[in-house]
Amino acid sequence: METPQNTCYCTICKKNVPFHIKNVDHKKEFLRTICTLGLWLPMWLSIALVKIKICDFCGQTVSET
Ligand SMILES: [Zn+2]
Repeated sequence: METPQNTCYCTICKKNVPFHIKNVDHKKEFLRTICTLGLWLPMWLSIALVKIKICDFCGQTVSET
């Protein structure tokens, strides 16, 4: 009975790896938005909405296919 739930294929490790969701540092993103006069806001939103998966082994983003 193998039901891998928190694994995702990593193209760098070339195998299924456990992953974690990237934490969004909202304080940092807020400051970045201020620094770019609001230009960063769409990026901030996309970062916050899209759960970016990070490979637990190599630390790279794993893209869902
Ligand atoms: Zn990896």
